[in-house]
Amino acid sequence: MARTPSFAARVVAWQRRHGRHDLPWQNTRDAYRIWVSEIMLQQTQVAAVVGYYARFLERFPDVASLARAPEADVMRLWAGLGYYSRARNLHKAARIIMGEWRGTFPRTPEGLVSLPGIGRSTAAAIAVFAFGARAAILDGNVKRVFARCFGVAGYPGERKVEEALWERAAGLLPGAGTEAYTQGLMDLGATLCTRSRPTCGACPLQSQCVAYRDKRVAELPHRKPVKALPRRSCVMLVLREQREVLLVKRPSPGIWGGLWCLPQFDDEAAARRWVREAGGRWHRPVAVEPIEHGFTHYHLTIHPLAMTLPLRPFERYLGSRPAGLAHLRIALHEATEEGLPAPVKKLLTRIAAGA
Ligand code: SF4
Repeated sequence: MARTPSFAARVVAWQRRHGRHDLPWQNTRDAYRIWVSEIMLQQTQVAAVVGYYARFLERFPDVASLARAPEADVMRLWAGLGYYSRARNLHKAARIIMGEWRGTFPRTPEGLVSLPGIGRSTAAAIAVFAFGARAAILDGNVKRVFARCFGVAGYPGERKVEEALWERAAGLLPGAGTEAYTQGLMDLGATLCTRSRPTCGACPLQSQCVAYRDKRVAELPHRKPVKALPRRSCVMLVLREQREVLLVKRPSPGIWGGLWCLPQFDDEAAARRWVREAGGRWHRPVAVEPIEHGFTHYHLTIHPLAMTLPLRPFERYLGSRPAGLAHLRIALHEATEEGLPAPVKKLLTRIAAGA
């Protein structure tokens, strides 16, 4: 009697025929290139990553060039991709690899996971693709495939559910060919077993999929228990003199740390105090249309106030602060080329278009 192919065998056979084989970070054993792609792909779709990946590698072709670079250069190339702690950690890890690992990547998941920004699943993916290790991954897409295929109830972000999924992941690993298997799982999750409207008709796991059998595909994996996000608001000052605008560097670590930003305050009163303290004059502020921005933990409404006034007092003031706050006076149309948080870029682009 013919044996039913194992889970892994189905995934591997499907990957060979239908998976992705020509992504820019495939067909290489270069741990650096694989690492950069894995970090960029966290919470981000392939289509959004491709351009950033090419520009990043052109500027930083290896771990040594990344480690040597100032953080501002790294942040500039990351601007718009979001989740900026990924860029800061990438930079930190590059310095650790050059300083403590003599420029060579750790080869095991245990070594890789000791670096900033590399979690258990990312460490396993790098070890598999760069060094042919036998290790299990469990990113968001793979969690979805497992939750559906094996009917795992509960929100995968909960520790108990996640542990159960890790157990599955480890138990399903094939004895050999982990690379094609891992790529297959990633491809399945990204192209067939998508969050909405998965293509079950073309899925190699359909005959064993619990969610498909029980008509629970739309239900699994269970959503995060809903909690309304708190709302916050702030004021940002667009201080302009002729065609130039004033930017300040965000402290790192922190939200948007290391990026150029407009001076931000809790409210208008705090903005007024700051302008006075800097020796400037609160001069006919113009309210610009607010910008909405969603973070993972809260929702932010930015109320921009634009003023035209001499910038010199602010430059002097910022330069004289104890830590010497980094600031930049820059032509409005050039400011949008800098590493800016997405809503600030949107705001300045809008103002530049109307200037
Ligand atoms: S049959 Fe459908 S729900 Fe089940 S693993 Fe395949 S694509 Fe996902």
